[in-house]
Order: sequence, then structure tokens, then C-alpha cells
Amino acid sequence: MTITSKIALVTGGNKGIGFEICRNLAGAGCAVLLGARSVERGRQAIRQLEQQGGSGDVHCIEIDVTRPETVNAAARQIESRYGRLDILVNNAGVNLRGDGLPGAADPGVVQRIFDSNFFGAFRVAQTMLPLLRKSAAGRIVNVSSGLGSLTLNSDPSSPVYNASFRLIGYSASKAALNMLTLHLAYELRDTKIKVNSANPGFTRTDLNDNTGTQPVEVGAIAATRLALLDDDGPTGQSFSKDGPAPW
Ligand code: NAP
Repeated sequence: MTITSKIALVTGGNKGIGFEICRNLAGAGCAVLLGARSVERGRQAIRQLEQQGGSGDVHCIEIDVTRPETVNAAARQIESRYGRLDILVNNAGVNLRGDGLPGAADPGVVQRIFDSNFFGAFRVAQTMLPLLRKSAAGRIVNVSSGLGSLTLNSDPSSPVYNASFRLIGYSASKAALNMLTLHLAYELRDTKIKVNSANPGFTRTDLNDNTGTQPVEVGAIAATRLALLDDDGPTGQSFSKDGPAPW
């Protein structure tokens, strides 16, 4: 069996920005694997897409990015069902209470944030790499954040400079994720796989108790665009919806 539509996996696809990325990729004709650490929440998300009249070809797949056994099992399922993966969106992420300035943040909390936001994405990318290498045009999108930008964190004129955005666990985990983008892009520079970071912008989701200033439709733009890049598109770069974003 030859499967012609692109096969896309989105981690943390059951809500927020990831859910919207799933909707966009399904709308673009991809077969979407909506990753969820809770199968029940994943199925509920698919029902929600159906009720909103735009489900397309979307299937729930169990992935908890902090549990290697679920990541390995997902890779085996994708291998046996499709034989390849065309798009990986490392979207799953957390922002946990107990994070803050380095003098006050709880080290255990910082470690848990890294487990999801950096090690989780690293684990999923490494595990899915053999499947992405079988794609004619693989794409990896790491959903990062302006809070992970070293440039913005050192610019007093940037909103990111403000104390209320200084979260050592969250920000450092996204800076590390950006380094994963650069190193993966370097490692894969002679392949058809492109690897980029997407900055959603401050988006109303549960991650920030819905205090964000823009809706998920806007937050999903950069990642969706990078997931669907043409063969002449960039690799090893960082983008917001408005274009190149500072590291
Ligand atoms: P959200 O609504 O809280 O969604 C986060 C998603 O990640 C949920 O599906 C959640 O699953 C999932 N997740 C968390 N830990 C996981 C794990 N260990 N394994 C698998 N899935 C896991 O937040 P969001 O704002 O859409 O965030 C999506 C991404 O955008 C994150 O990487 C975040 O850092 C990034 N981002 C967000 C903003 C913003 O303003 N919202 C700005 C910049 C970057 P459950 O439902 O099971 O918890």
C-alpha cells in the first residue's frame, strides 16, 4: 500500500496550540496522528474536531513524552501502519508552579519542566528519526518560545526582559530546545529533513491560565507553516508568525 498524503505526528495535540496545529495539518490534507498522554483526552479532542466539522484524517496516538515506553510504542505503530513519518511537531510542553527566578525556583520543578520541554522533545525526535529518514521530505518543528531567546532575555527593551517572564526552568528548557533544533539541523544537513523552531507568541491556553493575548488560531501559524515547508524552505532557523525570530 502506498500512502500519498503526508503523515504528521503532533505531540500534545489534544488541546491548545497543538490541537489547532492538528486541525490545520488535517485541513491541508495530512494524515494526522494526534499525540496525547491520555488516550481519553485524545479521543475527546478528535470528537471535538468532528463536532466542529473538520476532522479530516486524524487518529489518536498515545504519547507521554516523559515515558520512553509510550514513545517507542508509538514509533512501532507508525512503522507498521505507515512505514514512515513526514512531519513531527514537538509541541508538548509544560509551565509548572514553583518555577521563577533562579534564587527562588524549586530545582525539582525545574527538572520536571526540562523532562517535558527538552528531554521529551529530544527523546521523541531521536526515536522518530529512522521513520523521518524514510520520508521524501521530512520536517521537524520544535515549538519553542520567545522566553527561550537569549537575545530577548538580554534586551532591556523587550517584554521578555520583565521579571514576570523570568522563569528559569521554562525559559532555559526552551533555550535548550533551540539548541536541539540547531544540532539536529546540522546533523541532517545533507538529508531532505528540515528542522526549525517555532515561536507561537503569547497565546490564550491553559499553559498560562488563559492570560495570553492572542487566540490559538494565531499561535499555531508559525508551527503549521514550518511543518508544511517546501523543499526550498529554511532549516536550522527560528520563526514567529511574522518571520525570522531571534535565538
Ligand atoms: P496547553 O494548552 O497547556 O497544551 C499543552 C499540551 O502538551 C497538552 O496537550 C498537554 O497534555 C501536553 N503535554 C504536557 N506534558 C506532556 C507530556 N509529558 N507528554 C505528552 N503531552 C504532554 O499549552 P499550549 O500553550 O498549547 O502549549 C503548547 C506548546 O506551545 C508548548 O510547548 C508551550 O511551551 C508552547 N508555547 C506556548 C505559548 C503560549 O503563550 N501559550 C507561548 C510560547 C510557547 P495534557 O492535556 O494531558 O496536559
